[in-house]
Amino acid sequence: MPYKAISGIGEFGLIDKIAAIVEPTLYTVPQLMAGIGDDCAVYQPSEGLLQVATTDMLVDQIHFDLLTTPLKLLGSKSISVNVSDICAMNALPRYALVSIAIPSSFSVAMIEELYEGMSYAAKEYGLAIAGGDTSSSRSGLVISISMIGEVSCEQLTHRSGAKPGELICVSGTLGGSAAGLKLLMREKEIMLEHIENNEPYTKSFMADLKEYSDAIQHHLLPLARIDIVRLLHSRHIRPSSMIDISDGLSPELQHICRRSKTGALIHENRIPIHPATRQIADELQDDALTWALNGGEDYQLLFTISKEEYKGIADNKEISVIGEITDMEEGLRLSDIYGMTIDLTSIKGFDHFSS
Ligand code: ADP
Ligand code: MG
Repeated sequence: MPYKAISGIGEFGLIDKIAAIVEPTLYTVPQLMAGIGDDCAVYQPSEGLLQVATTDMLVDQIHFDLLTTPLKLLGSKSISVNVSDICAMNALPRYALVSIAIPSSFSVAMIEELYEGMSYAAKEYGLAIAGGDTSSSRSGLVISISMIGEVSCEQLTHRSGAKPGELICVSGTLGGSAAGLKLLMREKEIMLEHIENNEPYTKSFMADLKEYSDAIQHHLLPLARIDIVRLLHSRHIRPSSMIDISDGLSPELQHICRRSKTGALIHENRIPIHPATRQIADELQDDALTWALNGGEDYQLLFTISKEEYKGIADNKEISVIGEITDMEEGLRLSDIYGMTIDLTSIKGFDHFSS
């Protein structure tokens, strides 16, 4: 067979190939309601109740850099990114299995720090860390977490289900995580330059970044929006579709529209950009809107809801209406502050294999 580079088909092209191979296994388990293609797999153990399952891997130098990431925060974040996928199904997390591959340079105290962060986050979300696996690593640290959650049949929410005329909503603010990451990367470069030139690194890391600590916190310590899921449950409101924003608003909206067979129109002036992000973008000569649209790692929830149902959550200041679902033929569009429309599909999110 001729050699075919993975970069030629990209991350999602590769997942499609995998899905085609494993598809026959899905039919052997009738209780499996959904497999590859949503934020979680869905399994029905008994009538009325559903289990949702997700897994996420964090790899040194791909997802994090230990020069700029305290291990406690990394532990917490590794739990949060999984909880975020559970929340995207409108479900609540129950327990997690944690696997780690540890490089030989690590000490016992470093692993304890990592797990203190995980344990702290687990308590905050009300989930148990119930097991895992431990290995050595010849390269960097690898953290792989699988998580199980629960949701009633009435509350389960898929990526599909959006309908023309419905509102598109997003929780919290966007772009802050990308802004925080860019700042940390700049600081790292400065630090490495000092080390290379044999100069003392006099500029205090924390002092320099203090005014932007909120953006950095968004990157290093993102919190999954379990509060929004609890709000929806308490008000008996089910969005018609939902996804979490791990790769950026634009690619996640594309996932919802592809699965729902719809289009969408969102408005630039309604996108809730994280407050410090514009200033940081100016300072780094970058673009805050681009960070909000495809910066990723904000871990907010993006959902669609009928205008009638929206009235039940309209009082919540953490939820912004950014546009409307349209017919598929109208495509995915962003209307900018001048009223011009831009094709959102031209904006790509993070792909592990694109060059
Ligand atoms: P998310 O960003 O929500 O974690 P991904 O983009 O990682 O979702 O994955 C999209 C879908 O593909 C999910 O349903 C996930 O379970 C599935 N998937 C991703 N990688 C693999 C794989 N290596 N094998 C099987 N399924 C996968
Ligand atoms: Mg997700």
